Amino acid sequence: MIPGSFAYHQPTSVSEAVALLADLGEEARPLAGGHSLIPMMKLRLATPEHLIDLKAIADLRGIRADGSDIVIGAMTTQHEVIASDLLAAKVPLLRETALVIADPQVRYVGTLGGNVANGDPGNDLPAVMMCLGATYEVAGKGGTRRIAAREFYHGAYFTALEPGEILTAVRIPVPSAGHGYAYEKLKRKVGDYATAAAAVVLTLDGGTVKSCAIGLTNVGETPLHAEAAARIVTGSTLDAATVKQAVAAAEAITAPASDNRGPAAYRTKMAGVMVARALARAKTRAGA
Ligand SMILES: Cc1cc2nc3c(=O)[nH]c(=O)nc-3n(C[C@H](O)[C@H](O)[C@H](O)COP(=O)(O)OP(=O)(O)OC[C@H]3O[C@@H](n4cnc5c(N)ncnc54)[C@H](O)[C@@H]3O)c2cc1C
Repeated sequence: MIPGSFAYHQPTSVSEAVALLADLGEEARPLAGGHSLIPMMKLRLATPEHLIDLKAIADLRGIRADGSDIVIGAMTTQHEVIASDLLAAKVPLLRETALVIADPQVRYVGTLGGNVANGDPGNDLPAVMMCLGATYEVAGKGGTRRIAAREFYHGAYFTALEPGEILTAVRIPVPSAGHGYAYEKLKRKVGDYATAAAAVVLTLDGGTVKSCAIGLTNVGETPLHAEAAARIVTGSTLDAATVKQAVAAAEAITAPASDNRGPAAYRTKMAGVMVARALARAKTRAGA
């Protein structure tokens, strides 16, 4: 339970952080809230020789509106996401999701950027970012670039980040006013990772679904964008037969592990149940 030895660095700017990462190479890792990385280090599942702590970089914090987007700095804590009036008004799905991450102690320190950059399929925010059509802003020694959340996750703990790059911010297009949303998470107890979870954002036009996006958490090697399921409900009134078809389409893209959260077949079924519940709750909120 004691991590291997490492050198600690505390840059105060993004350029200093990426220069350190480039110079120190593969043995260096960014450190955000440390609530995923430090436990891995204690178990010796990660043994970085250098930790580049991002905490002192003021540019990585804060939540702001930028035209039709909201931009959230990577080092913004999960608690700050919950406390933000701007997010509560414009993207309430984020607050709803952050409230079911772990417990307040973790959320006071754990960051939004760490949660989405980690690449753990059990993290709750990645599927929500896919659902919202978010884009990740990334910086490396060679410059900056943007990566769609839907393109970011390649495998468990394997993302589109190149060595030496850090996530600087998450950019979210504000969903249209009156959209419906829900994050449904099945967990064994308070503070647990999801057995299965589903995020839904939809808009209605006279009782018919005009647009819909669905994301799934912890039922595959990566968070999942359930495109076919969303297409099935678009144009429908979310009648029972259509929802059943969408649930089947969502279940079809899952490939969960059998583990102490249950056998794979159970977790797949629970993903379907979460999709049905999230669709129903999003519908009741749409236009409210
Ligand atoms: C008891 C417990 C329960 C938890 N339950 C849940 C849960 O239910 N749902 C959930 O979603 N999470 C859960 N977590 C994880 C928690 O949300 C973490 O805070 C989060 O996964 C990682 O964020 P962090 O800021 O702590 O990142 P760190 O632990 O510091 O970093 C995680 C990884 O991301 C990398 N990284 C961090 N920031 C950046 C960046 N800006 N750019 C590039 N790479 C970066 C690090 O190098 C590391 O590999 C739990 C944690 C604990 C300890």
